[in-house]
Amino acid sequence: MTIVPASLAAFVQRLDLLVAEPDEAIVLPHVAKALARLVETDDWLPSAYAVPHPDNYTQYLLYRDPAARFSVVSFVWGPGQGTPVHDHTVWGAVGVLRGVEQSQRFAICADAPPRALDVPHELLPGSVETVSPRIGDIHQVRNAMPNDITVSIHVYGADIGAVERHIYPPKGGSKRFVSGYANGPETPVFNL
Ligand code: FE
Repeated sequence: MTIVPASLAAFVQRLDLLVAEPDEAIVLPHVAKALARLVETDDWLPSAYAVPHPDNYTQYLLYRDPAARFSVVSFVWGPGQGTPVHDHTVWGAVGVLRGVEQSQRFAICADAPPRALDVPHELLPGSVETVSPRIGDIHQVRNAMPNDITVSIHVYGADIGAVERHIYPPKGGSKRFVSGYANGPETPVFNL
């Protein structure tokens, strides 16, 4: 039996109450506030969930709501690692726990290349950004630390590793993908 970090347990309990509200416009600001509290202190994530993959960013499922109404994931970015432009199809909140993340929003028009909606901006530890089809769902994220890892905690309104979503290559068009999770024997999913 793996011990759940107390601050993660408190976050999950808060989420469990919040997702009872069906209106995402109401839920998401509250989720962002709860996530900001979770990433305010970097003392609770077991080190196994912050181990980078040598070749690409990696993601460990921390908690999955039994009804898949939400999931909490630890993203670990090595130096130089980042995502392609991608969507989520559900609401999500990204909170930086450690390091610095660089994020940029995009819009997609038919088969044209993704169009940047803003300049890349840096998210420092403790900061939170939200995405959803309602407020803008397409972005590109990378580690802004040249020599160190960045760890961010994400929460989504679904079991995100099982959701079919899209990558938008620089030349235009889209590719479907399902991210899955990188959990192994050292990184079991927490149960409450
Ligand atoms: Fe994303």
